[in-house]
Amino acid sequence: MSQTLKAVRGTRDLLPPETALWNRIEAIARDVFARYNFGEIRTPVFEDTALFARSVGEDTDIVSKEMYTWEDRARAQSEKTQSLTLRPENTAGVVRAYIEHGLGESGQLQKLYYIGPQFRRERPQKGRYRQFAQIGAEVIGPPSTGSESPLRDAEILEMLATLLDELGITGWTLELNSVGSAADRARYNDALRAALVAVVGQMCADCQRRAVTNPLRVLDCKVPADQPIIATLPVIADSLDEASQAHFAAVTAALDAAGVPYTLNHRLVRGLDYYTRTTFEFTHGGLGAQNALLGGGRYDGLSEAMGGPKAPGIGFAMGEDRLVLTLQALETAQPQTVADAFVAPLGESLNPAALALARELRHAGLRVELGEGSFRLKRSFEAADKIARRIVILGEDELQSGILTVKTFSTGIQTKVPRAELAAFLAGPAKG
Ligand code: AMP
Repeated sequence: MSQTLKAVRGTRDLLPPETALWNRIEAIARDVFARYNFGEIRTPVFEDTALFARSVGEDTDIVSKEMYTWEDRARAQSEKTQSLTLRPENTAGVVRAYIEHGLGESGQLQKLYYIGPQFRRERPQKGRYRQFAQIGAEVIGPPSTGSESPLRDAEILEMLATLLDELGITGWTLELNSVGSAADRARYNDALRAALVAVVGQMCADCQRRAVTNPLRVLDCKVPADQPIIATLPVIADSLDEASQAHFAAVTAALDAAGVPYTLNHRLVRGLDYYTRTTFEFTHGGLGAQNALLGGGRYDGLSEAMGGPKAPGIGFAMGEDRLVLTLQALETAQPQTVADAFVAPLGESLNPAALALARELRHAGLRVELGEGSFRLKRSFEAADKIARRIVILGEDELQSGILTVKTFSTGIQTKVPRAELAAFLAGPAKG
């Protein structure tokens, strides 16, 4: 017996009416990005594995255990086998494209956004999937474009506050930190390493490993028993040099001026290796354990680390799946699922005329369902009542006279409407 095939664990089908919400989110995001003068970039879904190893970092959870990687075999003598990976995030691809196409040579600040699927082999749970969608953006350019300016950080954060507001997501929190420059981080890593010597023996196995390889990542630990120990460790704010302190102070001053609320979180170091200076996360209480709506930060050394020119940048990625969950929980999301009208032909011979009428109404901007003439009238009414506000009956009489019979379900009222006025009538309130 053959087994029924199912979507792979951690992946799912998005069905209507929920897909209408996805489309609305994307439309609002595209509109906001356009107003902030961003353009769209679409990079491939798979890339050379080395790209992620180099940018995201070998020691991160993403690279060490979550990537979908395979050896792509050669199809011809001229081809080599190559290790490929489904993208686990999109910043690496965008920066690769920035370097590959010499985008920095234009002398313009590059402001790029993307919307698309990402892949990580994580343990699936609510709000965490193996294929998920991110909406993200990057602002990157040579230093001459002002790409290092704290104003860029503040502008991105202000844009995110605007986007969440326009999506109707209320009650978010912006958590903000600075992880300083590479030199600050090296100093902080030393301070952490020194402080960890006395306590790391009581911590989880992952932390014991991190204490050696990348002490900063100890702060990412989610094990409850480790939290009181982590609370005693030094904070990065004390390791920032004057320039990093001034940069961070300028970010917060601009946010204060724009009235964007934030809270400082000195433990926010984020999971990826390439961040410098400003790091941030927007969280939402309604999401439960996976409470991050989005995360991002500045990555001034990333382009150079990938073999490109000096190109400071800042970006973010938001989890679209989590935006959907949040909006559903807030119950502000009510995609239109009810059609304006159901066109019911009376008899199969009226099917072509019904298609013509439906076409007319659809062209007028109405959401129309087309019935089937072989259905008895009772069956058409039952079908229409489930999915439309009104039923338009098209019989031989209606076709000849050009006066249609319309029933509005909410009131039970049946009306005769001339064909020329039908679209306007159907667009009106269903109480009428
Ligand atoms: P990151 O690229 O890890 O900084 O993640 C940025 C955002 O993407 C997070 O704040 C989440 O909203 C979302 N995200 C990350 N991983 C997943 C996942 N496995 N499933 C759903 N959303 C995710």
